[in-house]
Amino acid sequence: MGKTAVQELTARLVAQLKRSGYIRGERVEEAFSKVPRHLFVPHGVTPEEAYRDEVIPLVSGLATLSQPSIVALMLEELEAGPGLRVLEIGTASGYNAALLSRVVGDPALVWTVEIEPRLADWARYNLTAAGFSAVHVLAGDGTLGWAEGAPYARIEVTAEATDLSHHLLAQLDREGILLTPFGVPGLPALLLRLHRQEGGFSGGFVGIPVAFVPLRGEYGTESRSREDGGRRAREAIWAVESEALAQGARPTLDRRLALDLLAAALADGAGLPAPEAAAEAWRRYRAAGRPGLDELGVNVYPLAEYPAPAPAFRRRDYVFCLELPGERNPGGGGESPRREGTP
Ligand code: SAH
Repeated sequence: MGKTAVQELTARLVAQLKRSGYIRGERVEEAFSKVPRHLFVPHGVTPEEAYRDEVIPLVSGLATLSQPSIVALMLEELEAGPGLRVLEIGTASGYNAALLSRVVGDPALVWTVEIEPRLADWARYNLTAAGFSAVHVLAGDGTLGWAEGAPYARIEVTAEATDLSHHLLAQLDREGILLTPFGVPGLPALLLRLHRQEGGFSGGFVGIPVAFVPLRGEYGTESRSREDGGRRAREAIWAVESEALAQGARPTLDRRLALDLLAAALADGAGLPAPEAAAEAWRRYRAAGRPGLDELGVNVYPLAEYPAPAPAFRRRDYVFCLELPGERNPGGGGESPRREGTP
């Protein structure tokens, strides 16, 4: 494959991602233009295929080379820039780590953790071949973070999480941003974007459904003991959803996710939502004209500091409190979400 052919394929992909609005800024455009994606694909994948806006499977069900449009979307939402130290969880091919290197201007500022040792080796090889050998690649469980490079100005998780570990949040620098696909097993995820602010973490969901392989490890998607009643929870959700559909409602992702969150919020001590309670909550939520999940703010509190009753879902270390638009802090106001609960 000659140089010009690759350049043409790259230029075509970049133009497409700009047209569709996934690439918005110069930094991300420059990164996509300069990183040779065909050096990050498995044997047998042609350069033509490498530069299509498509997912490329790596390890069945466990690892993929994400679709360029989603990679671009995440890079834009991450708001990384020159000189910022970045931690990526889920290296896979190393392609995104290479893009991050371009965005921050120095591969040595990029730290990336991959749970599959074979993939970590492969990523090191790819990164070196493409001129990014200074990227730090660790074979290990990224839900524990990587203390050596901390604190990080940006943390990007590239597998679907259902929880956040205190290790990761502790390694995020002041004013730092963490971006992760966040969801409920069995339902499509949204991107959760959290800002570290004085005394806490707040942010919200980016309103586009994303499909990622599950995050594994200590705080991975299988570790949700509280949600082990997931089957019953989903049954409850679908019962309510069917009822809404029967009444002529439009099926949307946001509604399903919002409902799931409400169901989780109402979970009893064992973590199992009562179907009637969830149904009732959902009816009230809709009747009040409540917005979708992507319109809600999110505040993250350590379990021990969980404030007054609020729409929220609990995980191992944290409570994720949902904030409705216009219902930010009593006395707070303004655009920037603030933590409440401290007198
Ligand atoms: N960013 C990658 C695509 C990521 S696919 C790229 O640019 O090619 C998700 C990856 O996350 C998979 O390789 C999977 O093995 C890895 N992964 C899953 N759980 C993990 C964990 N706890 N720590 C580190 N990596 C993990």
